[in-house]
Amino acid sequence: MADFNTHLMGAATVSGLAATVLVMTGMAPHQAVVGYFVLGVIGGVLPDIDSPTSVPIRITFNVLAVVAGFLLVFTFGARYSLLELIILWLGCYFGIRYGLRKLFTRYTTHRGLIHSIPAGVGFGLATVALAYHGFNAAAAHAWTCGAFVTVGFLVHLLLDEFYSVNLYGKKMLKNSFGTAFCLGSFNQPVGTATLYLAVIGLFLLCPSPRPFADLVVDRVHSGNMIQRLLPGETWFPGFLRRVTPSGLTNR
Ligand SMILES: [Zn+2]
Repeated sequence: MADFNTHLMGAATVSGLAATVLVMTGMAPHQAVVGYFVLGVIGGVLPDIDSPTSVPIRITFNVLAVVAGFLLVFTFGARYSLLELIILWLGCYFGIRYGLRKLFTRYTTHRGLIHSIPAGVGFGLATVALAYHGFNAAAAHAWTCGAFVTVGFLVHLLLDEFYSVNLYGKKMLKNSFGTAFCLGSFNQPVGTATLYLAVIGLFLLCPSPRPFADLVVDRVHSGNMIQRLLPGETWFPGFLRRVTPSGLTNR
């Protein structure tokens, strides 16, 4: 297993690269790209949230509690008084931070079903549905959000797999190899079936992926992506003019 820092670095690197491509090809506005990047990093720590003592689970539930509290307050902000809003916020915060977390750790085992490919797809689809229905995001934007979460998640599984080979040597290889990058578990047939049903259910909640697919195909076909890989006639256009003394460039 790779440790928390490795997972953060891995997810940040991959989603950073993907976000850079989006900026370069003009597929998404800058503000959105920062959000995608953050979602990719979150996806990279999600698989380990089922470990009851792990850093990710503490951070995840603390952040989730604060964020959910504010989302609730924003939703009812125009309707209730400040005192009522504070009560709502506190109820949401403590409910998630202690209640939900306790429930969650009780019903999951570390590196169980949550640490699997279908769970990664499920988290991505949940993000799509939440962005689309909860935040009124456009379909293509919502699907990009979900894609980043899933990619970050898969990077985590790959890193765990990679480290099980490299860090623990051959002896561990037999036991650990293939366990990180799994599709489900035969030991937990009910849990696995539920997981797949949840993935299907979440997909049905999502908007059509068509606009997202069209956007990707369009950008790849327009040749814009490949064209932008290497510099054109000049390197760092506009930059040299700014940093060199005017006498040199006006010759
Ligand atoms: Zn892991």
